[in-house]
Amino acid sequence: MSWNTVIGLEVHSELNTKTKCFCGCKNEFGDKPNTNCCPVCTAMPGSLPVLNRDAVERAILMGLAVGCRINNYSVFERKNYFYPDLCKAYQISQLEYPLCVGGGLEIELEDGTKKFIRLDRIHLEEDAGKLIHSRNGTMIDYNRGGVPLIEIVSKPDMNSAEEAVAYLQKLRSTLLYVGVSDCKMQEGSIRFDVNISVNRDGEPLGTRTELKNLNSFRAVLRAIKYESARQIEELEAGRKVIQETRRWDDAKGKTYSMRTKEDSQDYRYFPDPDLIPLDVTEEYIESIRKKLPKLAPERKAEYQKMGLTEQDATLITSERAYADFFEAVLKYFNEPKFVCNWITAEVFKKLNALEEDDRKISVTPQDLAKMLELYKNGEINQAGARKIFDALWEGETDPVRLVETLGLKQLNDTGALKAVLEKIIADNPKAVAELKAGNEKTMAFFVGQAMRATQGKANPKLVNDLVRELIK
Ligand SMILES: [Zn+2]
Repeated sequence: MSWNTVIGLEVHSELNTKTKCFCGCKNEFGDKPNTNCCPVCTAMPGSLPVLNRDAVERAILMGLAVGCRINNYSVFERKNYFYPDLCKAYQISQLEYPLCVGGGLEIELEDGTKKFIRLDRIHLEEDAGKLIHSRNGTMIDYNRGGVPLIEIVSKPDMNSAEEAVAYLQKLRSTLLYVGVSDCKMQEGSIRFDVNISVNRDGEPLGTRTELKNLNSFRAVLRAIKYESARQIEELEAGRKVIQETRRWDDAKGKTYSMRTKEDSQDYRYFPDPDLIPLDVTEEYIESIRKKLPKLAPERKAEYQKMGLTEQDATLITSERAYADFFEAVLKYFNEPKFVCNWITAEVFKKLNALEEDDRKISVTPQDLAKMLELYKNGEINQAGARKIFDALWEGETDPVRLVETLGLKQLNDTGALKAVLEKIIADNPKAVAELKAGNEKTMAFFVGQAMRATQGKANPKLVNDLVRELIK
C-alpha cells in the first residue's frame, strides 16, 4: 500500500500597522535596535497594554477576504513560556476564542487541478523580539517585540509539497491584495511552520512533526519532501515517528530534532486579566467589509471582459502589484491584450530573474505605455521595443527620446527597403526558389537578411509584403 502525506500549515504574518499591537511604539523594520520600545512592550512592572484598533481591523479584513466567520466575542490569552526574546515571559495571543474561524482558499496546481484548502482559524497575537547570534554572544532586539501578527492556521488538507507551496503562494498573494502585510520573507514579516505526518490508506493519521525555520517557498518544498521521506523510512524500518519540532537546515537539506513538541497545556494559557474580551459588533464588521479592496477573482473577471484569455487574466492577477501596474498602464494606453502580452512575457522575465522579495517593477506605467504605443504604431519594431524596455528597466526614461538616441526608428520607407531587398533576392536565387515552391520558413531568412542590412530597423511586416511582391 502506498503512503499518504498529510500537511497543515501555520503562517505568521506581521501586520503593517503604524504602531505595535498593545502600545504606541513604531512598527518599523530595520530601525536601530531597541529604539522602538517602551515600558509596555518591554514589560516594565505596572505598565498596561492598550489594544491597537488598526491591528484588529487588518486581521478582520484578512478574515473577510478568505471567507472566515468573524467572532463577535474573542479573548486575548497569555501564552506562557520563558525565552529571552520575550521580556514578559508570556506572549499575548488567542487560543480558545480566536477572532476569525473557518474560511479557506482555492489553490490551482500546475496541471490545472483545483483544490479547496480549509482554514481552521486566524487569530491576532504579538510578535516576540529578535535574537541575533554572533561570535561574541547573543544580542536581543526588542523592536519586533509587540508587533501585531496574525497566525493563519490551515486544516491538514494538503497532501504534497507542491500543494503546500501553491497554498502559501495564494495566501501571500491574498495578504498583498488585502494590503495588510508586506510579506517580506527575508525580513521575516511572513513565516511558515509546517505540520506533517504520513499514513497508509485507511489508517488513522500518523504522528506529526512540526518544521521550523522555513524562509522561502523553495525551503518549504524541499523540507516537506525530505521530512515525508524520512518519516516513511522510519516507519518502514519498524521505528516510530516522534512528535517533535524539527529545524530545517537549508544548506544541508535536512531536518534536525529541536525539541519534543509542546502541547497547548504546556503553555498554561489563561485569559489576560489586563485586556477585556474583544467585542466586535456586526456593524463594525460590515464597516470593515466596505473597505475590502477588489481581490483577484473580481479583477480577473473584469480583465476577461476586456478581452484577455482566462490564462492571461490569471497570470496578470496572480499578484496585486502586477494587476495594479496593468491597470495603470491602461490609463495611458488602452490596449488590454497588447499591454498584457508585454507584461506577462517581458516584465515577468525580468522579475523572475530576481529574488521573491525584490520583485519590483522598475518601469513607470507612463513610460511603458509610451513605448508600447510606439511599437504598436510601427515606429519601432519588436527588437527596438525590447532595447527601449531594457533601457527603461535600467533607469532611463522617455521612450520617444530613446528611439532617437538609440537610433531605433523603424525603417518604413518602401523605396529604401525595396532597394535592400532587390539585392538580397539577386544574391540568393536558391532561397527564392524555395519560397516560390511554397517553403514558408524561407521567409524568416529574408527577414533576417533585411534586418542585418538595416541594423535591425526594418519593419518586418513590410519586408514580408515586399519580398512577396518582388519575387512574383
Ligand atoms: Zn512599546
